[in-house]
Amino acid sequence: MRDKIFKFLELSCLLFSIFGGVVRKLVITAAINGGITNRSKNPNVPYSPEEIAQAAVECWNAGASIVHIHARNPDGTPCYHAEIYGEIVHRIRDRCDIIINLSTSGLNLPKGEPVSKAWNHLQFRPEIASFNCGSVNHGGKPFINSPEVFRALAVDMQKFGIKPEIEVYHEGVIEEAKLLTIEGILQGKPLFAFALGIRGGTSATCKNLLHLAECVPKDSEWSALAIGKSQLPINLHTILLGGHVRTGLEDNVYYSRGVLAESNAQLVERLVKISNIVGREVASPREARVMLSL
Ligand code: ZN
Repeated sequence: MRDKIFKFLELSCLLFSIFGGVVRKLVITAAINGGITNRSKNPNVPYSPEEIAQAAVECWNAGASIVHIHARNPDGTPCYHAEIYGEIVHRIRDRCDIIINLSTSGLNLPKGEPVSKAWNHLQFRPEIASFNCGSVNHGGKPFINSPEVFRALAVDMQKFGIKPEIEVYHEGVIEEAKLLTIEGILQGKPLFAFALGIRGGTSATCKNLLHLAECVPKDSEWSALAIGKSQLPINLHTILLGGHVRTGLEDNVYYSRGVLAESNAQLVERLVKISNIVGREVASPREARVMLSL
């Protein structure tokens, strides 16, 4: 066992020297609920603004510097009411300095609603919001993000001074983001989030992770997430590669095989421990703001 730990540490040093040079601090995002993960899968998924704020504060205490949020109706269905998002933002800001990242995804928008309803809460000025500039069959459901729509979203994000987190379901999204940067539609240091293991998207392998990390422009920041049982292995590879990580019940409801996670904070705590063991300190929200140019 000790040999294995030393091998792991040796490998981590090697990878840092290849990809990072200097060991950079780790930014942890807690994706605490998602749009559709419900309590039949894990009773600890937060729904109400108070439950969401409480989970955010617990994750902040555990070491997360960003919280990624979807609003929910009382029955757990996806919610697109701006005032609910506003209540969530205010409750969190009253209690801690965690960086707020709000979803703008229209994937679960009820039929007939204008697509801009998916981001009508940007008025509350989260520091980060998700930005989808590509389409994918997301878990078997068409998730269409047309150029017309994501250009309109980019304009609104600029208007409110929000950093777009570019959601990467496949490599084509990175190429699209590069073109948007050349056009000036995306500005500043790019922030990419690789989403691995979603049916219809890039599978959750170390090779794919490495490939995506090599595709983004050199001045970018990137993080990675993976779904279900791939969450932890991809988190580990990402820590070693110098990227940032995302955990939480949106992506995975288990702590280990067959054991449900007790809370989002429990998943964050484990990543903090692992990252400290391999010599990578965890960034505070203040440090993350500097690193990500927020
Ligand atoms: Zn999300």
